[in-house]
Order: sequence, then structure tokens, then C-alpha cells
Amino acid sequence: MPTDAAHYAQAVLAGNRRLISKTITLVESSLPAHKQQAREILDQLLPHTGSAIRLGITGVPGAGKSTFIESLGMMLIEQGHRVAVLAVDPSSKRSGGSVLADKTRMEKLAARQEAFIRPSPSGGTLGGVALKTREAALVCEAAAFDVIFIETVGVGQSETAVASMVDFFLVLMLAGAGDELQGMKKGILELVDGLVINKADGDNIAKAQHAQHDYATAMHFLRPASPTWTPPVLTCSALQSKGIAEVWQMVLDHRTKLEKTGELEEKRRNQSLDWLWMLIEDGLKEKFSGHAAVKKLLPRITRDVAQGRTSPSAAASELLNLLA
Ligand code: GDP
Repeated sequence: MPTDAAHYAQAVLAGNRRLISKTITLVESSLPAHKQQAREILDQLLPHTGSAIRLGITGVPGAGKSTFIESLGMMLIEQGHRVAVLAVDPSSKRSGGSVLADKTRMEKLAARQEAFIRPSPSGGTLGGVALKTREAALVCEAAAFDVIFIETVGVGQSETAVASMVDFFLVLMLAGAGDELQGMKKGILELVDGLVINKADGDNIAKAQHAQHDYATAMHFLRPASPTWTPPVLTCSALQSKGIAEVWQMVLDHRTKLEKTGELEEKRRNQSLDWLWMLIEDGLKEKFSGHAAVKKLLPRITRDVAQGRTSPSAAASELLNLLA
């Protein structure tokens, strides 16, 4: 009789969609019992992960992320790949219709057996949401999805979180009327492995090419994250599926180069260490807020700090000492 975790793991490995979803639900749960169960399942799945291509995609709302993922995803399915689409959006509410990686935004892809689409886990801190998405990605990899898209919206801090869990981080841009580089913080450009100007179609082609030139110049002044790779700037039309194959070729070229130099392995190793520390921080916070003596003392101590009767540092060490 297989244990519960073994049962889940075997079903995920066999590609059972219902149990893939259920496992991700366990991964996303904040109930301690579910967390424990998710950890046991993940332990069994981990040896079956690691070979997928992990592609992060960011861009402001309306940049064309879902259209692009659908277009590239369909192309990859035609080539025999299986694609999973996940998202990191700490602001997402399940009830809304516009959450990232929503199936209604990628109808063609969602209808395919070779695709698996899951919206962002809702609520919680960015760190918490990012951890859950990272684990959901591993579940998908174990279920033989060999290209994992992780989508995030181009506002706030979530880009850093996504960049730290993917092999290639791509930003989708629009050639706006004179707003090149605007709304795109320099910090994000430093995280990206490739830049793609979308909506290069119709009257917009010349503008897109102009933007391509501007960004290529801007990227030239940034210190590349890898000595082997200078982030290219491409144009595409997600709507007309033009330039999509070239974007994919860029991702493959990047992989080939970084595999050869050992940088890909190093990147993933560092990402695992980041993940470890995120888990430790998450676990410590959970332990702290669940600790009986902390819970008892916290209201008084926060009041004392707020009213200036105790210094924050004295209060923090008093509370932390309770854990020792
Ligand atoms: P997201 O918010 O970044 O996911 O953007 P969407 O994929 O929902 O696209 C926003 C709007 O732009 C939709 O109306 C799309 O049809 C349109 N769109 C997306 N890609 C293109 C493109 O390549 N060319 C044109 N002309 N429109 C596009």
C-alpha cells in the first residue's frame, strides 16, 4: 500500500493532471499538515526535475505577455514540447478575471493536453508567493513539462523573485510614443537575459525597430550578468506569431553557451542556495509567530515600542530570546 505522498508523487510522474493540480494546491496551502505533505511529495519528485527550460517573462500590463506565451507555447507544442505556465503576482486575488497565467487569457493553449496553466498563488508576501511558484514549477517539471514559463507583471519587486528561479529572464516591451526606457527601471534591465519589443506589426513596425535600436544602445552600457552573454534586443509580433521562433532560438543559444561554460549549473546552484535561505527565513518567521510565549508577549511589547517605553532593539532581542 503506497503512502499518501508516494501515491501523489507517482500520479504526478505519470502526468495525472488532477493530482498535479492537487499537489500544487498542497504546495500553496498555509496549513502545516498540508505543508508537511507537500514537502514529502516534493522530496520524491525532486530527483525527476532539473531538465526543463525555465523561462521567466515580465512586462507591464498590456505588453502582450499572455498573447506571447500563447504564441510561443503553441509553437513549442507543435515541436513536441510540453509547456507549463505559472505566475508570480503577490497582489492577485483568485476571484478576479485578470490574474496572471489565467486560462481565460490563453484559451488556445489551455485547451491543449500538452499545456498546463496555473494562476499565481493568491495572497501572502512576495517571498511566500515566489516560494510556492518555485515549488509548483518543480511539480510541473516532474510531470514532464519540459518548458516552464513563469510570468510576472512589470511592476514592483516580483521581477527579482522570478529572475532568481529561471534560466532565462525575458522582458517584453512596447515601443511607446517616446516612452522608451520609461517605466522600465534600470534594475530590471540588469536582471534580464533578453529584451523583446512586442507588437512589431502594422503601423508599429518602424517604431518597434527604433525602440530596438535605443534599447540595444542602453543595454550596451549595462554590465552584463554573464561574461558569455550580452542580452540581445529583438522585436516580435505575438499577435501575428512573427519573430517568435527567433526569440526561442535566443533562449536556446543562451542555454548552449551557459551550459558550455558551466554557468548554467552555477546559476542553478546559487538559486538552490537562495531558495534554501528563503525557506529558512520563511520557517523562522512561522516558528516565531506560532511560538506560544511570543504570542503572549507580543501585544504588550509592540505597545511598549509604539509608546516609546522600550527600544525596538531591546524588544526584538527579548522576543528572539524566547526562541532559544
Ligand atoms: P498582458 O497584459 O501583458 O498579458 O497583455 P495581453 O497579451 O493581454 O495583450 C494586451 C493587448 O495587446 C491585447 O488586446 C492583445 O490582443 C494585444 N496584443 C498582444 N500582442 C500583440 C501584438 O503582437 N500586436 C498587436 N497589434 N497587439 C498585440
